[in-house]
Amino acid sequence: MEYKILYKDGRAKRAEMKTAHGTIQTPVFMNVGTVGAIKGAVSTDDLKEIGTQVELSNTYHLHVRTGDKLIKQFGGLHKFMHWDRPILTDSGGFQVFSLSGLRKIKEEGVYFNSHIDGRKIFMGPEESMQIQSNLGSTIAMAFDECPSSVASREYVQASVDRTTRWLVRCKEEMKRLNSLPDTVNREQLLFGINQGAVYDDIRIEHAKTISEMDLDGYAVGGLAVGETHDEMYRILDSVVPYLPEDKPTYLMGVGTPANILEAVDRGVDFFDCVYPTRNGRHSHVYTNHGKMNLLNSKYELDPRPLEEGCGCPACRSYSRAYIRHLFKAKEMLGMRLCVLHNLYFYNKMMEEIRDAIEHHRYAEYKAAKLAGMMAGEEQN
Ligand SMILES: [Zn+2]
Repeated sequence: MEYKILYKDGRAKRAEMKTAHGTIQTPVFMNVGTVGAIKGAVSTDDLKEIGTQVELSNTYHLHVRTGDKLIKQFGGLHKFMHWDRPILTDSGGFQVFSLSGLRKIKEEGVYFNSHIDGRKIFMGPEESMQIQSNLGSTIAMAFDECPSSVASREYVQASVDRTTRWLVRCKEEMKRLNSLPDTVNREQLLFGINQGAVYDDIRIEHAKTISEMDLDGYAVGGLAVGETHDEMYRILDSVVPYLPEDKPTYLMGVGTPANILEAVDRGVDFFDCVYPTRNGRHSHVYTNHGKMNLLNSKYELDPRPLEEGCGCPACRSYSRAYIRHLFKAKEMLGMRLCVLHNLYFYNKMMEEIRDAIEHHRYAEYKAAKLAGMMAGEEQN
C-alpha cells in the first residue's frame, strides 16, 4: 500500500492510494453495496459507467446470508460480484450493535442473534478478520463497538478501551491471515476506527493511541448516529489533527453533500453513505439546485432530464415526466435511474472536489456548491 498526498489546500487533502486492486484517487465516495450489490438493480458494469472507484460491502450481511465461506470458495467477493476495483468491507460491528436486538458484549466479542433466522452467532475481532479475509476485500475495517451518542461517559470510556484491545487483536489476526498460502487477498489492508461518542477528550486520547499502531488507514466512527451536524464538525475539528495525516482518513457513514464538503475541509478523504441509493429508491434526487422529489405533480409534464447538463445514464436519455411515471407505475426502472443519477452526482462531486483542491480553490468551490444546493426550489 502506498498513500501519497498530491496536493493540499488548507486542511483539505488530495491523495492517491495504491492498492492490490488499483489506485484510488481521494477524496473518494465509496458506493454502498450492502450484500455485494447496490440496491436498485445497479450492476458492477453500471458502477464503472458512473465513475465508482470503491465499492463497500457489509461483513455482517454477507456472513449471515450466503456466507463468507461460500464466497471464499468462489474465489472471493471480487470474483463473486464481478468487480475488479477496490472493495472496502466494514467489520460487522455496527450491524451487530444496530440490527440484533439480543446481544451480549464480552471481552472476547459479542454474542447475538441473526436478524434473519434468529440463530446464535458469536463475533469478535478474530471472527471479523476471518470473515473479511474470506471475502478478500481490499480494505478491512477493525472490529469495534460504536457506543450510542447518548451513552454515559463511563460507558463510552470502558467501551473505547475495549475497542483498543480489540484493535490489537485485529492487527495480529490480520497479519496471521495474510501470511497463509490460501488467503484470497494476502495484501489486505486494515483501517482502525476512532470512537468516543461526543466526548472530545476521550476521542483525542483514543486517536493518539491508535495512531501509534501503524495501521494502513484511520476512520472516525460513531458519527451520524444522532448527534447534530455542528457536533459532528466540532468532533472532526478536534480529532482529525491527532490522526496521521500521511494515512487515509475515513469518516464512516457520512453523509449529505454538505457534510462531505465540510468534512473534506477538515482533512477527511474517504466517505460512504446510503443516502444517494436510499433516496434514489424513494424518488428523491440530488441536483446542484437542491434535492427534488419526483412525485411532486409539477414534474408530470416536465420534459427536462433530472438535471440539465448531467452526464449520467438517466439524464442522457430520460425525462423527469417519464421517470415520475415509472415511480407511479411502480416500475423498477424508476428506482434504478434515480439511484444511477444520485451515485453519479456524488461521484462527480468528488471529482470536482479533487479538482478544486488541486487548483487551490477549495474554499470558493465549497461556498458556491453549498449556495447552489441551498438556493434550489426544494432544499436538501
Ligand atoms: Zn443525471
